[in-house]
Amino acid sequence: MNMKTPIYMDHNATTAVYPEVKEVIKHALDLTGNASSVHTSGRAARKLIEDSRDSVAKMVNANSKDVVFTSGGTEANNMAIRSFAKSSAKIRILASAVEHSSILKASPNIEIVPVNSKGIIDLEALDIMLTESPWESGFGSTLVSVMLANNETGVIQPIPDVVSIAGRHGALVHCDAVQAAGKIPFDLKALGVNLLSLSAHKIGGTAGVGALIINDDLKKDVKLLPLLFGGGQERGKRAGTENLSGIAGFGHAVEYTLKNLPKYKKISILRDRIEKELSSHSNVRVFGSGVSRLPNTSNLTMPGVSADRQIIAFDLAGFSLSAGSACSSGKVGPSHVLAAMGVANDEASTAIRISLGFPITSKNVEMFIKVWRDIFKRSNASTKDLEAA
Ligand code: PLP
Repeated sequence: MNMKTPIYMDHNATTAVYPEVKEVIKHALDLTGNASSVHTSGRAARKLIEDSRDSVAKMVNANSKDVVFTSGGTEANNMAIRSFAKSSAKIRILASAVEHSSILKASPNIEIVPVNSKGIIDLEALDIMLTESPWESGFGSTLVSVMLANNETGVIQPIPDVVSIAGRHGALVHCDAVQAAGKIPFDLKALGVNLLSLSAHKIGGTAGVGALIINDDLKKDVKLLPLLFGGGQERGKRAGTENLSGIAGFGHAVEYTLKNLPKYKKISILRDRIEKELSSHSNVRVFGSGVSRLPNTSNLTMPGVSADRQIIAFDLAGFSLSAGSACSSGKVGPSHVLAAMGVANDEASTAIRISLGFPITSKNVEMFIKVWRDIFKRSNASTKDLEAA
């Protein structure tokens, strides 16, 4: 077993907490005060939360009052779908086939919009599905949920086009920006979406904190109902004493994230180097190649070698990475994203996801390429031995 610190290439699963964020979290933990209390200690806690709200709003060009802190991206996504589902008896929810399971499993009645072989939403199909509304035109209670960037492939969706089609049909748009945040610049108002989800642990904060941004322009006739009831926290939209340290860390992580955005230029060069080297092997396929993708993500096959086997072999060689999406159970299951892109199960089961982050060097990348080649050679040789036996 390689006891050295692994070379971490799984930044879409979670990424390191910034050292400065740890300091802010420690400071918040030392502060005894409930942000709902009116005394000095309570007001100090309130200030940390409101400063973070301002920072998160600034990152995506939203209004601070529209930011609702949640327990993470999953809750933000669930809240968008379920609160909308509860808003009226006549609602429709459409989501792309490649959405995160926290969207797809948030309601049993989601209508799936297909994607093409590159993983991009089929805009024509979306238009047709919205045209075929079961209600008279102008009925406003339809929500379309499309992510900004996919966690497994990094493929970036044409959100402004989705917004324009949805707008023609009077539908609202939710965007899961959990993976895009911190990796590509974007702007809520320029995107034109009504709801947007974020998660802190993908940008250098801690897991268990996120936000749903409810854009001011959300039509007044749609009233999102909270999922959690009790206190009046988060302007009555999400009850429960706030996670002060997590939220303080989130706000600080945002500041570093914005400063670090230019570093993704170098990361994309390293990612491209991996893809160029490995796709010179016959039949290696990079999913989503040729379309806009996150600069750090690559989802590629190693022909004839299962993802399970690759992950163990890479782990033994000192590399941490995932198969497709990092499942909560730790088990590698078939990827609904690759299936939606029309990839056969046999091929999808040989795909791994490489997601790079700031600490990665070109030396790490050269080593990774070498290890990949070794695993490929070894595995194919042992398969041939088995076949010959
Ligand atoms: N949405 C996407 C695209 C994700 O990749 C993830 C996490 O991997 C989530 C939502 C859920 O976020 P969280 O882990 O904060 O619950």
